[in-house]
Amino acid sequence: YAAKSGRTGVAVYDEERDGHGRHRLEDVAQLRRAIEQDELVLHYQPKLALATGTVDGVEALVRWQHPTRGLLFPDAFIELAESAGLMAQLTSRVIDIALAQCRSWSDRGRLLTMAVNVSPSNLVDEAFPDQVRALLAEHELSAGCLVLEVTESLLMEDRERAVRVLGRLRDDGVGVAIDDYGTGYSSLAYLAALPVTELKLDRTFVGEMTGSPRAESIVTSTLQLAHALGLVLVAEGAEDQATVDALTFHGCDVVQGYHLSRPLPAEALWSWLDERAEVPVA
Ligand code: C2E
Ligand code: MG
Ligand code: MG
Ligand code: MG
Repeated sequence: YAAKSGRTGVAVYDEERDGHGRHRLEDVAQLRRAIEQDELVLHYQPKLALATGTVDGVEALVRWQHPTRGLLFPDAFIELAESAGLMAQLTSRVIDIALAQCRSWSDRGRLLTMAVNVSPSNLVDEAFPDQVRALLAEHELSAGCLVLEVTESLLMEDRERAVRVLGRLRDDGVGVAIDDYGTGYSSLAYLAALPVTELKLDRTFVGEMTGSPRAESIVTSTLQLAHALGLVLVAEGAEDQATVDALTFHGCDVVQGYHLSRPLPAEALWSWLDERAEVPVA
């Protein structure tokens, strides 16, 4: 469009287009509308506690049901939300939907821990813990029902403030997980200082553990580290039974991955849980 108009801002306009020729400002406006008008959808992936064989938690993963482009995955819009300053709104909308779902499942007889992914920018926002508390109260859920998953990159921003914000959430009883553990830059000293409850070992290590002694060593030593620090170890991205067996053998606490289930829409997850309850534990 810029080229046709004959103005000189062509290069700028091109830079502002993504690979599909869309204009960033239009995308930002659409995303803002999506957050406000209920186009965000959550899919839920179960977390299996290996010691008991029970699913007592799920992770909420955001999708955008776009009016013309279909169902969009987070890599298509999370960065945009961040750069456009929409992350605070997106996260509180996601927590709101997730907790409403948690409340509804609880009313139907199953209290599941709800894990929600938050971005580093949420954790330098001093207002965030109060927002979380208000949402928990609104849905009449205790803080222990909620786990916030954060990546190690939070440590790259304002670390002191992030630790303070996380500490307030922890004091309230909200769980905190380090997501994609092992792929970031956090030193062990940072890890020891962070108020967290869970480590989620990145799926690159989990996926390779049955074929690679080195990957297996990373899994077992991370497991020891997590337990020494009193943290729950979650293995993400288990794609086959051999991996689940190996994780069970090594004493991993919780497993997640396509082998158990892909992330599912709320109703499908409910049916999955129902069917699962009728068969013996894997
Ligand atoms: P994550 O939190 O590490 O989530 C795990 C991702 O791996 C999900 O992709 C999930 O569908 C996928 N996955 C799960 N099990 C397997 C497996 O066995 N094999 C493989 N290959 N993949 C598996 P998804 O849903 O596309 O999400 C990607 C990332 O987007 C998430 O990574 C998270 O960092 C981010 N994200 C998702 N939802 C939200 C949200 O509500 N807010 C924010 N800020 N970020 C989110
Ligand atoms: Mg996650
Ligand atoms: Mg992860
Ligand atoms: Mg990830």
